[in-house]
Amino acid sequence: MGTQPRGGRAPTGAIPSKRKRQMARIVQKYGGSSVATIDLIKEVAKRAIAAKNRGDEVVVVLSAMKGETDRLHKLAREIAPDPPARELDSLLSTGEQASVSLFAMACKAMGERVKSFLGFQAGISTDDSHLSARILDLNPARIRTELAKGRIAVVAGFQGVNRAGDITTLGRGGSDTTAVALAVALGADVCEIYSDVDGIYTTDPNVYDKARKLDMISYEEMLELSSLGAKVMEIRSVGTGMEHGLRIHVRHAHGTGSGTIISTEVSDMERTPVRGITHQTNEARITLIKVKDEPGVAARILGLVSQADIVVDMIIQNRSRAEGGEPGLTDLSFTVPLPDYSRAMELMNEAKKSLGDAEVLGDDNIAKVSIVGLGMRNHAGVAATMFQALASEGINIEMISTSEIKISCVIDKRKAELAVRAIHDAFGLDRPPEELA
Ligand code: ASP
Ligand code: MG
Repeated sequence: MGTQPRGGRAPTGAIPSKRKRQMARIVQKYGGSSVATIDLIKEVAKRAIAAKNRGDEVVVVLSAMKGETDRLHKLAREIAPDPPARELDSLLSTGEQASVSLFAMACKAMGERVKSFLGFQAGISTDDSHLSARILDLNPARIRTELAKGRIAVVAGFQGVNRAGDITTLGRGGSDTTAVALAVALGADVCEIYSDVDGIYTTDPNVYDKARKLDMISYEEMLELSSLGAKVMEIRSVGTGMEHGLRIHVRHAHGTGSGTIISTEVSDMERTPVRGITHQTNEARITLIKVKDEPGVAARILGLVSQADIVVDMIIQNRSRAEGGEPGLTDLSFTVPLPDYSRAMELMNEAKKSLGDAEVLGDDNIAKVSIVGLGMRNHAGVAATMFQALASEGINIEMISTSEIKISCVIDKRKAELAVRAIHDAFGLDRPPEELA
């Protein structure tokens, strides 16, 4: 992706208080709920204009109006269950096209100078994978020209163009990726992500009312939380932000709160072991009981699954139950995405004879509860605290996996929310980090 530095601009930063504030270049992205009606579009237009009136250069990226992308998907599927991807992309991209033109009209009606751009006009080139295209190159020459003329540039999110000149889309939630990629290419000071939530929380406030908004979170933590089901930001965009050290600011589109800043690790972040808790109920577990414990068995089992394009998440193999010098038997469990569960069960049932006549068990009543935090790296006893919290609620841990900054436990699905609350309490996440240190 092109990341041309801006010429001739001093970096923003510590400025003597009497001098005029340095101009910043800002990319603001508004999600579908923030542009759901004409009135809301007028509101966000005012917010963008206010930023410009403070002396900043403003680029706006918009999603389709709330529900529009789903509506278009549904229309297509009324014609065919599996519509041609090229045509579907062309159809889906109209959602964002409508948003940006309406936004530009709203700005103009307020006397503001503005120009709207579709993905290809903004120089967003992608590969050929319709419906999940990746940005290959970004050359926002026309956006720069508009900024230099003192205009707001508003760019359709979620879309680009491939080498053949066909419209592509970047996958669900892809407007975040457009915004972050554009901010990087323009050398923006910050990418502001506006939606109907006022920041990143320690856990989903709908699950626990003691969830606390975070002022800051690191890219690594946000990446983990996104991959574990936190829906505030699309995961690819967080990765792109991290790669380029772009400051991302998650804020409420119509509120005045301070939001959450996603940026590089700061030393303070090490002080609290856990930043956030998530739970997911979109996996199922398959267990093979008494498979032959010999080289190549795990490779064969998981090979069958991966050949079917099924992504395995957690894997556990028990210690061998070798008896009296005989080749041993063992148990192997793994989790797969819920939509792939029945296919994976079929595969295992077909294969079990060749695996030593193993027994195949399945369970789709599981949840994965995870804690994430950079501070885990240098706090002892984090896992023990999590396990104790679960134990005190009588919740049995069925599988465990850990990484440097994450611990996940598989538990009974019905206990998932209770588990989140218990763990949240155990780490005192309702209290500000200063109090915890
Ligand atoms: N409109 C697209 C979607 O609903 C892209 C986005 O909103 O980020 O997935
Ligand atoms: Mg979104």
